[in-house]
Amino acid sequence: MVMLRSPEGVDFEVDSGSLCVDLVYTGGAEERARWETLRTPDDLAVWIAARMRVPAEHVRLGPRDLVRAKDLREVLWRSLNRRIDGSGPSPSDAAALDAAAARPDIAPQLRSPGVAVPVTGDQALSTLARDAVDLLAGPRAPRIKRCAAGDCPLVFVDTSRAGNRRWCSMARCGNRDKVRAHRRKEMHR
Ligand SMILES: [Zn+2]
Repeated sequence: MVMLRSPEGVDFEVDSGSLCVDLVYTGGAEERARWETLRTPDDLAVWIAARMRVPAEHVRLGPRDLVRAKDLREVLWRSLNRRIDGSGPSPSDAAALDAAAARPDIAPQLRSPGVAVPVTGDQALSTLARDAVDLLAGPRAPRIKRCAAGDCPLVFVDTSRAGNRRWCSMARCGNRDKVRAHRRKEMHR
C-alpha cells in the first residue's frame, strides 16, 4: 500500500500490486513530482528498509545510489506505461533493467537480521529490477493496468482473482466515477 495525496489535498491509498511499482510512487517527473519523497540518500535508505525488510542501519547508500534509483524509477515508469499501451520497454530501458537485474540482489539469510548485511544500493536496485523483469516478462504482465479514470495516470498491477480491478483507489477514482454517473442520471431525469 502506498499513501498518496491528490491535487485537492486528499490522502488516498493505492495498492500498487508489486514492489517495483511502489518505487514509481516515490516521486519522479511531471505529475509525480509532487510526491517526491527521495531527496537524500537517507530517504532512500528508509524506503528500502521499510519495503524490503532490511534494518535501516544496515543499508549503505551514497549520493550515486540516489541518482541511480531515480533513473531506475523513470525507466520503470516508462516501461510500465509502454506495456499498458501495447509495446514493451524501449531497447535502452530494457538494457538498463537487465543490467540492474544482473547484479547480486539482497540475499535472504536464516540468521538475524534475515538478510546478508550490509545491503548496498546495487543490491537494492537489483531486487527492484528483478521484480520488474519478472513482472514485465512473466504471466503478470497482462495485469499491468492504468486507472480507468480518464484524468488519472496511476498504474498498478491487478492482483484481484477475477482480474477486474479498474481504479487506482476505490476511495478516490472509483468514488469520483460513482459521483459522475449519479450526476449524469440526475441530468437525464
Ligand atoms: Zn485513479
